[in-house]
Amino acid sequence: MSYACLENKIVKARKQHRCYLCDLPIVKGIKYIRRACVEDGDFFTAKMHQQCEMTTKAWDLGDWEAHDSYEFREYLAPEILAEVKAEQTPQVPTDFSK
Ligand SMILES: [Zn+2]
Repeated sequence: MSYACLENKIVKARKQHRCYLCDLPIVKGIKYIRRACVEDGDFFTAKMHQQCEMTTKAWDLGDWEAHDSYEFREYLAPEILAEVKAEQTPQVPTDFSK
């Protein structure tokens, strides 16, 4: 079992992504964490909200493997979840007259 992260950086979303951890949208224009890793020879990129990534600082590899988006949302502090949801607000259509 090998696991290595090649890149971990904060980038600005040029289009909407989905958070690897909470499964909520990472909306266009916000900054998110992009982590490129190799696990047993397989390359993958995880995109995460900065707030979500912060809650994983104490995680070990087992926590990452066992991670479940639904449980993660339960685990997120209410204020972080509110912030993540607030970030989506600009994309919600507000004009219902059409
Ligand atoms: Zn997230």
